[in-house]
Amino acid sequence: MAVPFRKTSKTRKRMRRTHYKISENGTTKCPTCGATIRPHRVCKKCGSYKGKEVISNNKDND
Ligand SMILES: [Zn+2]
Repeated sequence: MAVPFRKTSKTRKRMRRTHYKISENGTTKCPTCGATIRPHRVCKKCGSYKGKEVISNNKDND
């Protein structure tokens, strides 16, 4: 089995990891309110899923 000849230095490791970034991919817009949401999840802003309200949002009444 091949083994690395040299230890990866802190600098090399950090330079490589500068490319590890959180991507904006995997997000969609809520069809009801247009907020950016994760797919297949209930919208936190308006409490809707697939265009139907599934969580009653009583924030307006408070
Ligand atoms: Zn929404």
